[in-house]
Amino acid sequence: MPQIQWPDLPAAQQPTWPDQAALAAARAELETLPPLIFAGEADQLRNALAKAAHGNAFVLTAGDCAETFKHNTADSIRGRLRTVLQMAVVLTYGSTLPVIKIGRIAGQYFKPRSGENETVNGITLPVYRGDAVNGVDFTAESRIPDPFRMVKAYHASSATLNLVRAFTQGGYADLREVHSWNQDFVQQTKTGDKYEKIASDIDRALAFMEACGVDPSEFRTVDFYSSHEALVLDYEKPLTRVDSRTGKLYDVSAHFLWIGDRTRQLDGAHLDFVSRISNPLGVKIGPNTTVEEINRILEMLDPEKTSGRITFISRMGVEKIKETLPPLMTASFKSGHQPLWVCDPMHGNTRTASTGHKTREFADVLGEVVGFFEVCRVLGVHPGGIHIELTGDDVTECTGGMEGLLDQDLPSRYETACDPRLNRVQSLELAFRVSEMLKS
Ligand code: PEP
Ligand code: MN
Repeated sequence: MPQIQWPDLPAAQQPTWPDQAALAAARAELETLPPLIFAGEADQLRNALAKAAHGNAFVLTAGDCAETFKHNTADSIRGRLRTVLQMAVVLTYGSTLPVIKIGRIAGQYFKPRSGENETVNGITLPVYRGDAVNGVDFTAESRIPDPFRMVKAYHASSATLNLVRAFTQGGYADLREVHSWNQDFVQQTKTGDKYEKIASDIDRALAFMEACGVDPSEFRTVDFYSSHEALVLDYEKPLTRVDSRTGKLYDVSAHFLWIGDRTRQLDGAHLDFVSRISNPLGVKIGPNTTVEEINRILEMLDPEKTSGRITFISRMGVEKIKETLPPLMTASFKSGHQPLWVCDPMHGNTRTASTGHKTREFADVLGEVVGFFEVCRVLGVHPGGIHIELTGDDVTECTGGMEGLLDQDLPSRYETACDPRLNRVQSLELAFRVSEMLKS
C-alpha cells in the first residue's frame, strides 16, 4: 500500500517515546495488522447519526474513562456491555426513538493529561498516559513510554470487539433478557421502586407485542459501535487505510473517533488528521470554546455538510452549561450544517473529595443533562444523546445517587485508572432519569 503523506503539524498530548527505533518498529507492525472495523460499518453509523441529527434517534455513548489491560476480562467487558444495553432499553422507551449504542470500548487506551509530570511524596515521574503508552504504577520503570504497548492495545481491542460482536449478535443482548435485568434492578435495589412504573410500562409493551406474535430480529441482535479518543497519532495513523470500495481514508481502529477538548487546536495535527478520514467524528466542546472555533471546525471537518459526520460533545459543567452552550449551539446551525449535539455530563464536573479522591457528584452529572435538555428546548434543537463514563461494577468512584455514596465511601472500591466512573446502579439511575426527561 502506498504510504499516506501526513503534513507535519504540531500535535498536543503526544508521548515522548524514548526509543525511536522501537517506535518505527511498532508503527510498522500496526501498519500490517488487519482492520478492527469495516469502513461500511462506519458509514452505517454515520447514517444512523444523521437520523439523530434530524431528531429521529438518540445516542448513548458509554464506557470506561481509560480501558486497562488488567480489566480487559470477559467479566468486565460483559458487565460494561450489559449496563449499556440496560440503559439503552430504558432510553428507547422514554424517547420512543432508536437508541444508537456506542461504547467507549475496544480502543480507549490513551489519555490526555493536564501536566507532563506527577509528584507523589516528593517524587516526580512522567504522568500515566493510558495503558497503550505507559503503566499506571507509580514507578520510574512503569512510566517509561513503550511503543509496543500500542500493539498490545490493538490486540486487546481486537479481543474486546470480538466478544462484543459475539454477545450482541449471538443472543446475549435479547431485548427481553435485558428488560428482565432491568426488572431485577428495580426490585433488588433499595430505592429502585421509584422506577417501577417505567419498568412495568416496558413490560406491558413487550407482553402486548408477544401476544400479537411480533418477534422481530431486532429484538435479538443489537448494533453496537466502538469509539475512542483519537489522541496518539502514532497509533491512529498506521491504522488508517484506503477503503477499497470508495478510495477514501478510514481510521479502522474504531467506528467513531473523537477529538478531546485539549487537542482541538485549529492549526494542530489532530483536527487535520480527522479531516482526512471518513469515519463519523466527535469534537469535545468545553466552556472555553469560541463561536469562531465552532465555525472553523465545521468548515474543516465537514465542508460537504454531510449529515451524521459531526457530533459536538458538550462538556461544560453544571454551573456553566446554560450560559456557555447556547451561543455555540446557535452558531453551529447558522451556515447550513446539521451537527448532532450530545451531552457529556462527566468531564466538566470533576471535583476533589474530602478524602483527596478525584470524584463527581451524581447530582451534578444529572444536573448538567437537565441543563443540556433545557438549552436544547429553548433553541429548538434535538437533544441528541449522552456520553457517559461508567463501569458495570459496583465501584465507589462517584458520590451520590440512590445508594447515597459519600466522600468517605470512596476508598472502599476506587479502581479507575483515570477519571471516576458511574457505577452500575448510578448508570441505570441516570438512564431512568434521562428517560423521564425524554418522555416529558
Ligand atoms: C475523555 O473523554 O476521556 C476526556 C479526556 O474528555 P475531554 O477531552 O472532554 O476532557
Ligand atoms: Mn475521562
